[in-house]
Amino acid sequence: MGNEEMMSISKKRGFLYPSFEIYSGVAGFYDYGPLGGILKNNIMNLWRKYYVAREGFYEIEAPTIMPRETLKASGHVDNFTDPMTQCTECHEVYRADHIIEAAINKEVEGLPDEELTKIIEDNNIVCENCEGKLSPVRSYNLMFKTEIGVSGKQIGYMRPETAQGIFIAFKRISRFYKDKLPFGIVQLGKSYRNELSPRQGVIRLREFTQAEAEIFVDPSDKSHRYYKNIEDYELELYSQEEQLNDKKPVKLTVKDAIESNVVSSEMLVYQLVLAREFLKDLGIPNEAIRFRQHLPDEMAHYAIDCWDAEVKTDQYGWVEIIGIADRTDFDLKSHIKHSKEDLSVFKEYDTPKKVVKTKPSFNMKKFGPTFKGDSPKAKEILENTDSEVIIDSFKINGTYKFNIGDNEYEIDDSFITFETKEEEIRGERIVPHVIEPSYGIDRIIYSTLLHSYTEDVSEEGEKRAYLKIPAIIAPIKVAILPLVNKEPLVDIAKDIEITLRENNMISSFDGSGTIGRRYARADEIGVPFAVTVDYDTIDDKKVTIRNRDTFEQKRVAIRRLPIIIKELVEGNITFEELEE
Ligand SMILES: [Zn+2]
Repeated sequence: MGNEEMMSISKKRGFLYPSFEIYSGVAGFYDYGPLGGILKNNIMNLWRKYYVAREGFYEIEAPTIMPRETLKASGHVDNFTDPMTQCTECHEVYRADHIIEAAINKEVEGLPDEELTKIIEDNNIVCENCEGKLSPVRSYNLMFKTEIGVSGKQIGYMRPETAQGIFIAFKRISRFYKDKLPFGIVQLGKSYRNELSPRQGVIRLREFTQAEAEIFVDPSDKSHRYYKNIEDYELELYSQEEQLNDKKPVKLTVKDAIESNVVSSEMLVYQLVLAREFLKDLGIPNEAIRFRQHLPDEMAHYAIDCWDAEVKTDQYGWVEIIGIADRTDFDLKSHIKHSKEDLSVFKEYDTPKKVVKTKPSFNMKKFGPTFKGDSPKAKEILENTDSEVIIDSFKINGTYKFNIGDNEYEIDDSFITFETKEEEIRGERIVPHVIEPSYGIDRIIYSTLLHSYTEDVSEEGEKRAYLKIPAIIAPIKVAILPLVNKEPLVDIAKDIEITLRENNMISSFDGSGTIGRRYARADEIGVPFAVTVDYDTIDDKKVTIRNRDTFEQKRVAIRRLPIIIKELVEGNITFEELEE
């Protein structure tokens, strides 16, 4: 893998580097440099190809600053916390669960503060800096707090996840899809978590990018229309069962995973397959990917089933890069409760149901004199009372008694008669469940770079270290190299560069040093193809294309280059299939 080597190339060649470097930096913030910015966009656009173009989920963009009440409703104001402890001597702060795990190698995530305090005391865990005594553990909120406006009356927070922007706009989104379940919506963008003491480079950032899809489904039907197509797909699954019994992950087909109830629904397993395919496109090898199921105590209380796509790293072990969860109706119900808005959808039955309904009709001549101002209220109460209850009371007592405020009333069957009618019911209102794939884009970029790092020997027999980034996401698609840095070769090469750029392909001209040096420079930053202009080019108007990964070379006409590079990058043809 080579975390150090890859990070060194990343910093030196402009993929990723710590932010605010000239002011000594701040932990938990990273810049995407000139190449990293493009790589990030290419990965996000590949994601859009999967979720927006192929799955048909439209994309929204909600604000990154949210008013307090929205995050109170979602539970973040009260529950989005980490346990912290502080050194009483040097005042260094620690995530309590992390310092315990590091000291005694025990999983304690999710335990209450008092228990963590006790574990620290019982095991005599001290400050990593100065061995000072650690304070009792307390929870602190991970959200960045700010003010909306200057009056000081409205508190806002930087959003801790993109998902809430979708739930809050659910009413409009549902209308957009004409209430027809299932439907999905995506959002890509920045989220913020004020991590206590991030010590894991790009793995734990305070400002990070998420790509999330919220797929709204009928709670009684979590089947997937394309399930038949993925039944034989194999997944590396590390289920609760295997984890709790200290076993290894197992390879299962989708069909077996569903039939043996390892994965809870077709809707969920379909998302595992999509995630798997996406990671494959990024060049992350099979053996470095697994899906780990959340253990019962690690899963949110409202969730039915959660799986993390994890990638193997040499520096941080297995790292979660995608979370796939069945969040049930928790979020929508929370927002229904707090906003008092109806966030349900109308589910139409395939065939309308017939039901027998008993409806009261009122004798208004009696109502007026008896109830006076309470008359409308009396009708409302009686309409909402089970007719059986009133009829039974007439039979037994001859009357029916009820209260409006402090007034007690008594009626007999001269006030009210009942009619039974058969009615047709077309459907019912339901609150959808949510299946959510949540992608951590920064961790995905890190994993992509990490697993692209390759060492081998060049065609000239020299040791080569480079980023084998798949062409579809590589920031620069082609390097244009004149064989020697002289006219007319330079002119021809620069013309080719301009033509490719006009065709929306980022290419780079490099004329300095030996051709071997220039190949090495292009390889290092992951440029998949190099085009060499030589003296024959002047007459035959042809150039040589070289494949970064195989050193294979082919000679093609300059005029065909834009279409050839495009086809190669998009994977419509392989280099071997390319005709000279
Ligand atoms: Zn200390």
